[in-house]
Amino acid sequence: MANAPVQRMSQLMVKTLRDDPADAEVLSHKLLVRAGYVRRTAAGIWSWLPLGKKVLANVERIVREEMDAIGGQEVSLPALLPREPYDATGRWDEYGQELFRLKDRKGGDYLLGPTHEEIFTLLVKDQCTSYKDLPVILYQIQSKFRDEARPRAGILRGREFLMKDSYSFDLEDEGLAKSYALHRQAYQNIFDRLGLDYRICAATAGAMGGSKSEEFLAPADAGEDTFADCPNCDFAANTEAITYELKPVDGSGLPALEEIPTPDTPTIETLAASLGVPASATLKNLLVKVDGEIVAVGVPGDREVDLGKLEEHFAPAVVEMVTESDFAGRPDLVRGYVGPQGLGDKVKYLADPRVAPGTAWITGANKEHTHARNVVAGRDFEVDEYVDVVVVREGDPCPRCGTGLKLDRAIEIGHIFQLGRKYTDALKLDVLGQNGKPVRVTMGSYGVGVSRAVAALAEQHADEHGLVWPKEVAPADVHVVAAGKAVQTELALDVAERLRAAGLRVLVDDRAGVSPGVKFTDAELIGVPQILVAGRRSAEGVLELKDRKTGEREELSVEDAVARLSA
Ligand code: ATP
Ligand code: MG
Repeated sequence: MANAPVQRMSQLMVKTLRDDPADAEVLSHKLLVRAGYVRRTAAGIWSWLPLGKKVLANVERIVREEMDAIGGQEVSLPALLPREPYDATGRWDEYGQELFRLKDRKGGDYLLGPTHEEIFTLLVKDQCTSYKDLPVILYQIQSKFRDEARPRAGILRGREFLMKDSYSFDLEDEGLAKSYALHRQAYQNIFDRLGLDYRICAATAGAMGGSKSEEFLAPADAGEDTFADCPNCDFAANTEAITYELKPVDGSGLPALEEIPTPDTPTIETLAASLGVPASATLKNLLVKVDGEIVAVGVPGDREVDLGKLEEHFAPAVVEMVTESDFAGRPDLVRGYVGPQGLGDKVKYLADPRVAPGTAWITGANKEHTHARNVVAGRDFEVDEYVDVVVVREGDPCPRCGTGLKLDRAIEIGHIFQLGRKYTDALKLDVLGQNGKPVRVTMGSYGVGVSRAVAALAEQHADEHGLVWPKEVAPADVHVVAAGKAVQTELALDVAERLRAAGLRVLVDDRAGVSPGVKFTDAELIGVPQILVAGRRSAEGVLELKDRKTGEREELSVEDAVARLSA
């Protein structure tokens, strides 16, 4: 690292832009493009320019150091992969449209790796045969490919992106728990060193399968995840992962079910208004098709169903909304007036835990223009399965302590999973145990979004003038600006060389014919932590040091500047 040559702006390929790119929606996208770090090649496909590549390499270095520190061994596996292992685990199909599939000249099926559980499992099967070969942690930092539906947020969501993926292989559950804990600590070290603000949140295991999983979420407006934070206890979770305990109540004294005519009440709002009750007293029943079969989902009338959660619940089955034609030949399903009572065994009925046994509801009576009140769960209808699929709202009770939750947007920068034996079962990974009998290996998988972390940093470390990189990831330690006159350029190059000799990474703006104003603006936009200007008092050998973050300025001699910056 130390003593890299001074980087001269006059020779550097960097073209800054005054205006935001037209297609940019999020801050990091705007700034990284404007400051000349990245360039869009196609939708969701990015090129890293010299300054960007330096930041990316710094993130990679930190990730590598922390992975090595927990005993991870770096490897490099191909991104172009054969179909067969992904067939064995079912993911060739399950991955759906996100998977880039392609054919070779002989018609054989291949894919571009979205993540590598299968390939690492096979590698370990090939290399490790005895309990003595385990535990092992393997990792790589490599381009991943996913045909994302909405690659709209710049390098936050690429279709090709850089990931650190690692995999642990252990003989027993305790070993897996230990490998997981090592990764958790390594991730904390990585994100602390990167200078990211983040929370560790309980997460759903998602398409990966397996049990315990946590996400590292970096709060930012541009984030596509929402996490809930409890202001009272230490509960923090991705809202996708929040589940509530089912609490049955005593409904034995409730009056009998009563049908009521309700003309002109096509929506929950009009129904609640005409009966003078809050929407939360009504039960709405959403109909969806799961692999073609109609399923009803009951939630309180004031709640929205999170379709993502519903898809997650039924995955890999495909969830679709019902359409007009699905009602044809189904007189039992009266559109707009569906109630769970009498749905019978023809339609599977799922409900939110708020629809607990003993609770009473106003809901459809399965007749045109008619609703029913005092419809009691467990008495008038049965719930086949309770699911947490409603959208979590600010103020919903903390599942641990009941305090109102606070919600924030965040970027998922890392994800750790205790997979267990899902992949080792599918690919039959055994090693010989101490007693000579084969032992099925247990596995963890762990990802850091390396390129995404650069964008997350840009989101969290910026002001109205541009980027403000934390020291360890910045493309340089000092940005020396030569205001323009010969004496200023001479001083700038001299101090730049001395700073380099002192071990600092130096960028010097020695461009001729560029106004000082433009150079200052560019320096602020590029965001190196310290800006050292050879300006007005250059003839006396006096420079001005400006802290990019605080804006504090100070005049210093060359010697003092070098001493200060290399301290
Ligand atoms: P998301 O929910 O954002 O799609 P994911 O759950 O699909 O993420 P993982 O499969 O766990 O992500 O991948 C590991 C890490 O790789 C993520 O934590 C994230 O930081 C990063 N990552 C995932 N998809 C992308 C992408 N399209 N572009 C950039 N980084 C990504
Ligand atoms: Mg994803």
